[in-house]
This record gives sequence, structure tokens and C-alpha cells, in this order.
Amino acid sequence: MARLRYFLALWASKAAYALLRLLKHNATMFPGQVALTLCPDYFAQTRKCPHVFCVTGTNGKTTTTNMVADLLTAAGYKVVSNRYGSNINTGVATALTHSVGIFGKPKVDALALEVDEKFSRKILPYIHPDYLVVTNLFRDSIKRNAHPEFIFNILNTYIPKETRLVLNADCLQSSRLCPGNERVFFAIDKLPTDVTACVNLINDFSVCPECDTKLEYEYLRYHHIGKAYCPKCGFRSFDGDYRLTNLDYDAGQITVLHDGAESVYPIVNRALYNVYNELAAIALLTDFGLSRETLAKALGGMGVTETRYKETKAGKTVLIRTMAKGQNSVSCSRTMDFVGHESGERSVFIMVDDMYERKDSHEFIGWIWDVDFEFLDQPDIRQIILAGPRCYDYQLRMLVAGIPAEKLVVEPDEFKAVDVMDKDVDKLYLLHDTSTLDLAIEVEKKILAVFPAAQQREAAQ
Ligand SMILES: [Zn+2]
Repeated sequence: MARLRYFLALWASKAAYALLRLLKHNATMFPGQVALTLCPDYFAQTRKCPHVFCVTGTNGKTTTTNMVADLLTAAGYKVVSNRYGSNINTGVATALTHSVGIFGKPKVDALALEVDEKFSRKILPYIHPDYLVVTNLFRDSIKRNAHPEFIFNILNTYIPKETRLVLNADCLQSSRLCPGNERVFFAIDKLPTDVTACVNLINDFSVCPECDTKLEYEYLRYHHIGKAYCPKCGFRSFDGDYRLTNLDYDAGQITVLHDGAESVYPIVNRALYNVYNELAAIALLTDFGLSRETLAKALGGMGVTETRYKETKAGKTVLIRTMAKGQNSVSCSRTMDFVGHESGERSVFIMVDDMYERKDSHEFIGWIWDVDFEFLDQPDIRQIILAGPRCYDYQLRMLVAGIPAEKLVVEPDEFKAVDVMDKDVDKLYLLHDTSTLDLAIEVEKKILAVFPAAQQREAAQ
């Protein structure tokens, strides 16, 4: 009976997908929703393909999952991933539907799944991944995720005992998950930019979990990421099995030490959080058995997905459209750190708001007070454009961050903001949320049209 119900769910799910695609819809969640409604134990009933890789954590899940899927594909594996879909149970169920044929037989070699950390309890115990990467655990939206310890306890309870873990040794929050499981750690050695005391507004892991003494750091990268030790009881961060020993931005490459041998790989993206994502993918797939040559070759031709990072030219201005995740103060701080420490005369256009949520609920705007906007207080950042319905909240936040009022352009209409902003700038960072991506693409089009003409007029005068 259970199998019959499963097959009905599978066929309905496949039919729903075909129909939605015919109507030119994305079809990332609904086919999975159909499957789970008809067959609540769809995850357990689905026959798994030979290799199942999952990626979870607060930040970096999408980028890491996409890299893992692309690297496996480059190595000759047939892969299904939820890269365009949702990372909650319905999106994962849709991916499972794609991974089997109409008689339920696996038709791919591997599944590469992004799994939402809170929804992991509904997914991991039934999917039984062979591997699970946990990128990190930070404070996230208070409404959705409460606090990092709450998410830690969910993962610690529901990760299957036989799953091999790939953990970030520099994140004390997530590296302590499931100590009974087999695991490998990745870590980045001390960098010239590291400090020994936290400069961020948020540090989610500052006290020794053994004796409650304040932790000290051999080096601290950002927030609680770094190598910590307890001066009283000897508790300390784990050592990396895959250690990034050299980060060479000029040569565009990283060196990874594993089992006493160093290997060199191209850097996919300059932002340090993306270097962590790349290192996680390298650690996972090296442990799985892919060769350095295969990984290095595939990474050489890879970029971060365009919905997360895209560079174009608007006249003489380099336009960088990138994500600054709303309601996620750590992720947003990473973007501010990245933009703040880039070089050249630049402007920053911020269109991150939560109007989409205010239709039926609301998020406490206080999260913007946890974001390190202070990183934007740089002499070579010429203008900060605050656009969209939350622009006045941001204006107050920027002033408190010490940014001079004359650098701020405050405009509720994103398109009008393009008209009034300064166009004579080397680089422009267009920062958007997941929910404002489509709008950001329209604003980007306007910038691409308006900037070159304005610069030509300027040059002619
Ligand atoms: Zn201690």
C-alpha cells in the first residue's frame, strides 16, 4: 500500500512539473509539495541514487551546493541539484522526483542538495546523506531561526549517525556538531587581515563551552570565525584536515595542505566568504575521491552564480551587483566588509528591504543595527545611495555609523535614485536582497543605460 501511494505521488509530482513547465513556471516547489501531500513519507520511500551530498549552515549554502554540483558534473557524474529551487522540504522533494524515473529507479549518479538548517529535521533523517557539509552557524533572522544554539540543537539531534561530516574548524558553533560522526575539518590559516579581538557588532561564540571563561583568539577573522582557545581549561578550536595555507589574490590562487601535501587551486571569487565556500567544496570532493587535477581544472572555469554576484561595465564604471542578505545581519556584514575594503573611488547603492514580508507579517527592523555598516565609512567611498521603502531607517543607521550626511542619497523610489546619484565613479556596488533581485536587475538596466550617456555629456563639457 505504501509503495502504491508512493508511485501515485511520484507520477503526480512528475505531471505537475511537466504541466508547470509547459506554462513556463519555475516548478521548483509545487511538484514536491504534491508529492509530500500524497505521500508524507516520500523522502523515505524514494530510492536514493548512489551518492547523496547535502549542504547546510547559515551562510554560503547556495554557492557551495552549486559548486559541488558543477564539480561533480565536470568529473563526469550525472547530478540532480535543487540549485534553482527551494532548500526546504518541498524543494528537496522536487529534486528527488527528478532523480528517479517513472518506475522509481534512480537515473542519476548523485544528488547535491542545499538543505535549510531549520528544515533539516524534516529532511536529513529520511534522506540519509552520505556527506553533509555545514558551512557555518551564525545569528540569522530572529523570527525564523531564533538563535544559533537553537539551530545547532536541531542539527545535532537530526543528523544521521552514519553521515560523514565536512565541518568548518574556524566556526566553533558548527564544528562541535555530532562528535560521534566521522568528520573532516577545513580551515583557513592566519591571514594578514586577521585580528585577535572582535571588531564586529556580533560575536555569537565568545565564551568557553566547558568552563564559561571568555575565549581568546590566536586569530580572529570576523564575528566568531577564527582560532579560539580558553586560557583557563585548554579548550580550543579543531585543527583543519584541509588547511588553506596561502591565499594569493594577485595570482588568483589558493594553496590547500592535506595529508602533508600542498595543492594549488584557482580562486573562484575574491570575497573571503566565497573562499570558505570553495574550500568546503574542495574538502568534500577530495574526501569523496576526486583528484586535484579534476577539481582545479573545473574551478578554473567557474564563477559564482549571477544571482549572487555579477560584474558589468556601465561606461567607465564597473558595476558590481551582489547580494546583501536582508534580516541576516552576519551575511549582510560580510558584504559591507567586502565592499568597504575594496579599492578605488566607489559608490554603494543599497536596496535591501523587507516589504515582501510586511504584507502578512513583519520582521523587527532592528537587525540593521547588528550589521557592520561602519565598514562603509571609508574616504574612497564617495556616495551611499539608500533606496526603497526602508531608506529612512538606513539613513539613521548610516549616520550612527559615522558616515557624513553629505555622502548619503536618500530616495524611496529606486529608479529616481539612479537619476539623482553621482555618475562619475570608478566602481558602483549595487546591493540587493533575495527578495529585491528582480527589481535590482531592472535598476541595473537603468544604470547601464543612464551612466554611459551621463559620462559622455560630462566629458564633452
Ligand atoms: Zn574553558
